Amino acid sequence: LPNGLRIDAARAEAQRAYELDRRHVFHSWSAQRQLDPMTISAAQGCCVWDGAGHRLLDFSSQLVNTNIGHQHPKVVAAVQEQAAKLCTVAPQHVNAARSEAARLVAERTPGELDRIFFTNGGADAVEHAVRMARLHTGRTKVLARYRSYHGGTDLAVNLTGDPRRWPNDRGAAGVVHFHGPFRYRSQFHAESEAQECERALEHLEQTILLEGSDTIAAIILESIPGTAGIMVPPPGYLAGVRALCDRFGIVYIADEVMSGFGRTGRWFAIEHAAAPAGSSAVSESASSAGEFRAVVPDLLTFAKGVNSGYVPLGGVAIAPHIAATFDDRVYPGGLTYSGHPLATAAAVATITAMAEERIVENAARIGEQVLGPGLHALAERHRCIGEVRGLGVFWALELVRDRQTREPLVPSGGTVLRELDTACRSAGLLLAVNANRLHIVPPCTISEAEAKEGLAILDDALTLADAHTA
Ligand code: PLP
Repeated sequence: LPNGLRIDAARAEAQRAYELDRRHVFHSWSAQRQLDPMTISAAQGCCVWDGAGHRLLDFSSQLVNTNIGHQHPKVVAAVQEQAAKLCTVAPQHVNAARSEAARLVAERTPGELDRIFFTNGGADAVEHAVRMARLHTGRTKVLARYRSYHGGTDLAVNLTGDPRRWPNDRGAAGVVHFHGPFRYRSQFHAESEAQECERALEHLEQTILLEGSDTIAAIILESIPGTAGIMVPPPGYLAGVRALCDRFGIVYIADEVMSGFGRTGRWFAIEHAAAPAGSSAVSESASSAGEFRAVVPDLLTFAKGVNSGYVPLGGVAIAPHIAATFDDRVYPGGLTYSGHPLATAAAVATITAMAEERIVENAARIGEQVLGPGLHALAERHRCIGEVRGLGVFWALELVRDRQTREPLVPSGGTVLRELDTACRSAGLLLAVNANRLHIVPPCTISEAEAKEGLAILDDALTLADAHTA
């Protein structure tokens, strides 16, 4: 095993860990008795080793967070050095790791989003972004998309547009859901991506008008919805959302917790939405190379890839006009570990290594040259694949029982996808299963050979699912 681990010792430890887990650990989003969780004993690069010592290619990046791969030596060393130097300080003090991490994040976020509030993860970043938007506007309502995920805390789960909200919904959080563009399962019956975009923007405008534009503090939107299905928005959609926010004085919150820090082959997914210069649908302050202008949100939430999850970290990047609201007025919020030295030291090392080793470029190249073409080739061979979507190292296969009707292969997980998942695992591939979809989301560092190895395992496993099609 990697990192000097001996297989017999690792197996013994895994056995004990499993027993203690089943006795004492309470798991997220689960009926506890129905669980049979997998033990991970070791990890390196794009691979993990299970409790029995079997190697698996990690096409899940855990929860889509190990963008830099597992056990990157520079990040491990940075955490070790920081631990030896200064493990923890209260957030009211300046700490060098946090200052440097804030600079590095600010330099990469679009436009002038250069004030950074650090949190412990994605959900609390979302909570704080909404709080800032409400205080800035003096309004309460927040519009959020159906087919979205924004986190598991109280408000974040109420913003979420998937079934995880249902048992948690208090109906009083001031959240209104709208439909975003998703042509494969469109409620707009659009004939083209352009029409889908236009109708989705009309629908959003109507929602704003019917809710009362001056009651709406913010629109929160994943630049590419991740957990809900990796739906890349049509060109013009995010620029159109920006324009609506400008028109009605609504704060645009881009949730880049999953899509940020290289996953899509750019530092942030919203960079793919650049609109032609001169278009009224872009922020005046924004500019990017050439004739295109970036779509710049007012607040951008991040977590996961910022330090690949080596130590929990998230945050909100804040535009100057929102930050200015709190120049002479107290921001009523905070966290004991805001900008924790170990977490921000890991962020500094992660962002620096990603830049030096051209890891974002690697994600773009693998997407264009290997995963994209490879997954489309699988769709030609397997009739269970209804649609292939994505870019960079951020892909979904939508599995259907019938390509004509687009009936999902299983409504929500179910035995076919469990079988497929098990088959992949036994052949050495770990991927993410979501409802009737497979998400192919390996680390941004994945090599061509590893990507091809994973695709070959997937190819065999998909034959199982073909047997369940009409
Ligand atoms: N926002 C998005 C877009 C996410 O994908 C997630 C997690 O998957 C979150 C927020 C919540 O992040 P966390 O689980 O770190 O609280």
